[in-house]
Amino acid sequence: MNRRLLVFLLSLCAPLLAQAETRLAAALDRELDRELSHLVARAYDRPDAALEALQALRQSRPAGNALGFTLAEGQILVHRGDIQGAEAIAGILEGEPQGQALGLLLRALIADRLGRRAEAAELARASLQSLEAGCRDQGLAQAIERGQCEFRAVWSALRVLEREQSAQGRLAEAESILRRSLALAQAGADRHLSAISLNRLAVLSQDQDQPDAARRWLIAAQEQAKELPGTLARVKQSEAIVASKRGDAQGVLNGYEEALALAQQADAPRTEAQIRVNLADLHMHSGRPALAVREARLALPVVLAFKDLRLERTLRHNLAVALLLQRQFEAARRELVRAEQLARELPDPARRAEELREIGHAWASSGQAREAITVFHAERELSAQIHASQREAQMQQLQLKYDSERKQRDLELLTRERSLKDQQLANHAMAQGVGLALAVLLGLSLVLVVVMLQRVRAANRQLKANQQLLRAQSERDPLTDLANRRHFLAVMQQQSEQLFAGGLLMIDIDHFKHVNDQHGHAAGDAVIREVAQRIRSSVRDQDLVVRWGGEEFLVFTPNVEPADLARLAERVLNSVGSQPVATDNGPLRVTVSIGFAHFPLPPAKLRQHWEQAVNWADMVLYTAKAQGRNQAVGLAAVDARDAAVLSEIEADFDAACRSQRVRLQHIPGP
Ligand code: GH3
Ligand code: MG
Ligand code: MG
Repeated sequence: MNRRLLVFLLSLCAPLLAQAETRLAAALDRELDRELSHLVARAYDRPDAALEALQALRQSRPAGNALGFTLAEGQILVHRGDIQGAEAIAGILEGEPQGQALGLLLRALIADRLGRRAEAAELARASLQSLEAGCRDQGLAQAIERGQCEFRAVWSALRVLEREQSAQGRLAEAESILRRSLALAQAGADRHLSAISLNRLAVLSQDQDQPDAARRWLIAAQEQAKELPGTLARVKQSEAIVASKRGDAQGVLNGYEEALALAQQADAPRTEAQIRVNLADLHMHSGRPALAVREARLALPVVLAFKDLRLERTLRHNLAVALLLQRQFEAARRELVRAEQLARELPDPARRAEELREIGHAWASSGQAREAITVFHAERELSAQIHASQREAQMQQLQLKYDSERKQRDLELLTRERSLKDQQLANHAMAQGVGLALAVLLGLSLVLVVVMLQRVRAANRQLKANQQLLRAQSERDPLTDLANRRHFLAVMQQQSEQLFAGGLLMIDIDHFKHVNDQHGHAAGDAVIREVAQRIRSSVRDQDLVVRWGGEEFLVFTPNVEPADLARLAERVLNSVGSQPVATDNGPLRVTVSIGFAHFPLPPAKLRQHWEQAVNWADMVLYTAKAQGRNQAVGLAAVDARDAAVLSEIEADFDAACRSQRVRLQHIPGP
């Protein structure tokens, strides 16, 4: 039972143990990484010792990070100046599944060591593409802790990049790279790398005329390097460089001397040699050639041992100039030959021109005019070349700028043109729209006008019809449906004055009063209606029948012969009188009396107004009544020469009849 419990508890602990084991392994890896980094840093000054220590460490940690060991070995070989060995290591790294980026990094470091900065930067960039993937800004420390971010490798690649950017004068870019490398070193708690980044930031700030920033960076660097004498020596060196850029001669000397002491204390011969080369430069420029020669000679064996060509170049140059100033021409010439050889191996025209200027001055100040002139000549030629290539570069830059500006301008022009075209199109569309709207409006207005006109016309027609209807109604007698006296008047008014022509029959129902009195008013109406109907049917269509008064009718026949007029009168007499009229009270015998005349009156045919004509017809009707009714009396002839005589006869018609001045025609009724 107890054993089972134990097994159970152990099984519970297993994941925890596994986790602890992983953590331990990670911690061990980080520890190993730190040790390797320390060895690489140490290799700068003591590569052989570092290599030995590396082999020992590799044997003690056979399960350790194999790639880490290999890279460290390559880096140590680079420091030693064993380029072939380092390249072989790079090949090994590139053959490993995860070693591609580290191989590129090592090749970048090799190129950098050989002074091939552009190539080095390109390789560094290529390696960073995969190396930086694990080192995102957020959670950088955790990424390093978990082993996802190989920050030291990234730092080394960034350093190569920064050197190239600085050499190209791209100080802002260089600074941003340095800040990135400082962040990495701090996140990885690597004081040595932090101090180196801070050193470079200080020098860069001074280069950008920011002395306060430079001072602050140096203080920070010193803080990081506090317990690392080798690192501190490099900080002091940077202090001297910053002081020199500031023009603080004493500061420079103090810096280098302190650095030298620290380097010696740290057993750092290469750093020491580097400081001595710088001191030689300082002495040479400060008019102390003897001291310069001394420092340079002290540094030379170490520099040669490390095969540090860049440092050797500086050293040989300084030595040559110092020797020239000391008039040791033979020794100087030897140094000059080697310096020239190195200058060819590490091409840097600007630096070479500066060197030539110093050499020329040295020749001149040592009284060797011919040598000085030759060197100055070479310097001028080189400067001209540099100038030309700079101008070329500037021209290219300008051309690029011009091209891009021109493109921009073209683009702007195109854009403007397009927007103008768009505007034009929009205007066109708007004009079309307005035109269309106007056309529609016009069309609508026209339609409206037409409709209005039609309506007005229709209204007028209607009005006219109404008027005609009204007039017809007002000129019509409701009882008999014959024209009334007003209608006759209207017809007469259309005839020209004094020119009445045609026949007139004035018809009156005989003793009509009796009908009314004996049979009632309704029977009277019926009689009037029937008589009207019979007169109407007795005349032609073109003849006008008018209800002249209560039981009086007038017939106007425009185109009729006098004989036809008499026959018409006879027809009327017969149509009314020959048949009794049916009423509600039974059939009634009705007769009429008629007065008729044909105008102008024969034989004189004098002109007369229609009113006079009606009066003449009335007068003969009176005669027909007076002579017994149920008969028609017509005017056969009137003996009147002129209007005055006619008026006389009118005034006394009966007398005129008696005197035969008026002859009548008599037609008896049925
Ligand atoms: P005469 O033979 O002399 O013409 O005698 P008359 O009675 O026919 O003539 P009078 O002029 O004396 O009378 C006409 C009458 O006709 C008078 C009037 O009341 C009547 N009258 C007039 N208009 C109408 C009508 O529309 N309807 C009816 N029923 N009677 C009417
Ligand atoms: Mg009458
Ligand atoms: Mg009558």
